[in-house]
Amino acid sequence: MRPVARRFSFRQDAAMPDTVADILHDLEPRLRALRHDLHRHPELGFEEQRTQGIVTAFLEELGYAPRACAGTGVVADLRPGVAGPAIALRADMDALPIHEETDLPYRSIHDGVAHKCGHDGHTTVMLGVAAALAARRDSLPPGNVRLLFQPAEEGVRGGGARVMVEEGALEGIAEVYGHHNWPNFPKGEVRVAAGPVMAQEATFRITLEGWGGHASQPQVTRDPLTAGAHMVTALNSIAARGIGHHGGAVLSVTSFQCGTTRNVIPGRGVLLGTVRALDAALGERILARLEQVVAGVAAAHAVEAHLEVGRGFPILPNDPGCAEVVHEAAAEILGAERVSAAGLPLAASEDFSYFAQAVPGAYFFVGAGREGEETPGCHHPDFDYDDALIVPTARIFVRIAEDRLRALGAAGARETS
Ligand SMILES: [Zn+2]
Ligand SMILES: [Zn+2]
Repeated sequence: MRPVARRFSFRQDAAMPDTVADILHDLEPRLRALRHDLHRHPELGFEEQRTQGIVTAFLEELGYAPRACAGTGVVADLRPGVAGPAIALRADMDALPIHEETDLPYRSIHDGVAHKCGHDGHTTVMLGVAAALAARRDSLPPGNVRLLFQPAEEGVRGGGARVMVEEGALEGIAEVYGHHNWPNFPKGEVRVAAGPVMAQEATFRITLEGWGGHASQPQVTRDPLTAGAHMVTALNSIAARGIGHHGGAVLSVTSFQCGTTRNVIPGRGVLLGTVRALDAALGERILARLEQVVAGVAAAHAVEAHLEVGRGFPILPNDPGCAEVVHEAAAEILGAERVSAAGLPLAASEDFSYFAQAVPGAYFFVGAGREGEETPGCHHPDFDYDDALIVPTARIFVRIAEDRLRALGAAGARETS
């Protein structure tokens, strides 16, 4: 693993440029090569051993003393033990169980696994941040910046952030910041908002047990297909009829499997779906209605229904002060007209919520949609992280870190004086 990482090694010497933009500009070719290398070697959640090795080696060369966390995660402090405030910046590292359909020269070498959410880019951004901060280690305001490289953000294996919090990754941390590239927002723009920016998720599975029989004799069956059809309609009406114009929750039935042929009334059916809510109480209300509707429709059709609910990630709450910090930093780098809260919140979910529920924090979106074309979104088989985002995103993070060390340090000094 180490020899691979050395290909991206770089020196820190007197000739090193000292503005963040210059440092990152000089480093950009190496960061792009590193991103392509990560893309070629995607790893699923909690299996990011190779990625962990590359991140660790890169950080060690910069003078960090990185440590493993949550199995395949990495935590690194810019200035451990230095007095003053501490903030954390987070990147996720895992890939998805999706087969890559691009003909990129650096396409995934692993069948059925690919970086289709851009976490290869997020990891690379944070290594750029690590390099820029290390080059300015002695000129930054007092305090520490902790870099969090988390495993397992995606899907059923997700929740790497929760494990990191449990293992103490946020101990001593005042604020935490994270981001996602987002092709559904225009490239060159940043979107950030105060309050909930991503939803809590619950998934459900409903098994309908009836009594099958000959299609010519429905009167002697208890038909799970007709019950299921009514159930789809009733379930999809819960949010539409039960919330009103304020919105804030979505319920989608996503699968209904029942029956296989023309002349048989099946005995069993299975429905799958998801509930997303931007308010915890509202989420509970929807789940309570889900239970009532399933029981009621099943009873009306004389079938038995078994409902299983799985809890996903909680709501991602942006602290208003931290969201403002991101807004100002992004406006500084990109221009004020390119930063807004438009399109937020999203009904998607993200396990950065575990960090942002533990300490104040903010999560922002960096637009990646190319003008005049339908840019494949995250999780699309043709998706690829846009390398042009690496430097501006890293600059935003560095700006956030410097601003917060200065402001939190000044606030701390006022408190103790
Ligand atoms: Zn994803
Ligand atoms: Zn993602």
